[in-house]
Amino acid sequence: MFDAVVVGARCAGAATALLLARQGHRVLIVDQAHFPSDVRLSTHLVWHAGVDLLDRWGLLQALQDSGCPLLTDFTLDMGGLVLQGQPPATRVGAAMAPRRVVLDQVLLDAAVAAGAELREGVTFEGVLRERDSADGRVCGIRGRLQDGQPVQFEARVVVGADGTHSPLARAVGARALVHHPKDDGSYNAYAYFSGLPVDAVEFHSRPERMAYAWSTHHGQTLVGVILPGRAPRVPLAEVEAMVMRELHAHAPSLAERVRGAQREGDWTAASVGSHCREAAGAGWALVGDAGVTVDPVTAAGITLALRDAELLSGLLHEGLLQDGSSGQRALDAALAHFGPQRDAVSRPLHQFAQDMAQLQVPPQEMVDVFMALAGQQAQIDRYFGVFGQTVTPAEFFDPANLQAILYGAVTPA
Ligand SMILES: Cc1cc2nc3c(=O)[nH]c(=O)nc-3n(C[C@H](O)[C@H](O)[C@H](O)COP(=O)(O)OP(=O)(O)OC[C@H]3O[C@@H](n4cnc5c(N)ncnc54)[C@H](O)[C@@H]3O)c2cc1C
Repeated sequence: MFDAVVVGARCAGAATALLLARQGHRVLIVDQAHFPSDVRLSTHLVWHAGVDLLDRWGLLQALQDSGCPLLTDFTLDMGGLVLQGQPPATRVGAAMAPRRVVLDQVLLDAAVAAGAELREGVTFEGVLRERDSADGRVCGIRGRLQDGQPVQFEARVVVGADGTHSPLARAVGARALVHHPKDDGSYNAYAYFSGLPVDAVEFHSRPERMAYAWSTHHGQTLVGVILPGRAPRVPLAEVEAMVMRELHAHAPSLAERVRGAQREGDWTAASVGSHCREAAGAGWALVGDAGVTVDPVTAAGITLALRDAELLSGLLHEGLLQDGSSGQRALDAALAHFGPQRDAVSRPLHQFAQDMAQLQVPPQEMVDVFMALAGQQAQIDRYFGVFGQTVTPAEFFDPANLQAILYGAVTPA
């Protein structure tokens, strides 16, 4: 009997297992994959709130030692207006973009070092339920090893960290609270380059498109273009030409640097749907993409996964310390608190990303606010903080704050 079984061993699952194991709980983490293992569908930017957590958990040095730089400067070129700044109220004062084969492994190694048991090559197939409980309480999982052998593991709580398609969410019947098909989201095409200098994390935003670039390991730079998901699909063989056309038209300085650089590996292009699912029920909880998948346009998913891990493990800790019916009551209370607390953080960011994924020209009132930002560095930093997850969308877009920006506008001499 484990205290917790976590299905999915990447950023959400490994972080949850790490934090539970560090608090002395008996944790099993299973994944169908074998590690180290990369994730191709990710531009892997971890924002400030995420880097702060990695630092608090003692993992930042390992990531820096892997050759991944801290990203301290941010530029948003909106055509006619360029904002430069840094999110406020951060511990480390930086984002970073570690490749997933590195980030997930650093988290997983730390989880195992803290005492979590890792079983790779285990495919989750369903949950075990208490026969005599009225609510069909989940009390473990069943799965299959690669040689076809069935396995099952009992646990006081089961955590689904098994990604956007989450078989565990299906098995427990987690309700969809919000769902957006991929055509309502963004379409993202990107590749890695060497010999491409970037001074800052660059965003170039124009109506119906966005271009971006940031540094990752060993001097490589990730460059990409985002279009609305409803835009006509481009065959993979034509993605490079499409990206170069877009950069040439909307981010010529970046286009020039890309032309002088060496592409490392193929282009990746994808659009994905997004959703929020019910976070928890009797004996189970969902973390990371399994619970909330955010459109990639704001690069929020990994940071949110790390925040989920901290929130859930903190709530579960007390209940897992106690045995018997008082322990079960405390676990039920923890699981009941997880949903509202997760949603207070994640759902506004989910909606912010979904709105941004439309890549539409903002209404005139918002254009006025952006134009008024020029020269108001503290407010520019707060806007970057919405992405860095150190300022909430509600704080920045509060009508009183927007009014303050408009009244604080610097009139040209
Ligand atoms: C194009 C694109 C770009 C993105 N860019 C960024 C970015 O720049 N920054 C950012 O923060 N986020 C980004 N994201 C989102 C980010 O990748 C996700 O939020 C993140 O991967 C979620 O992590 P996770 O641990 O919840 O799930 P995942 O990384 O999906 O891991 C799920 C794990 O569950 C395992 N699993 C699944 N089913 C089973 C099963 N039946 N049995 C056993 N194991 C199972 C899988 O093998 C996998 O290891 C991007 C997403 C996309 C699509």
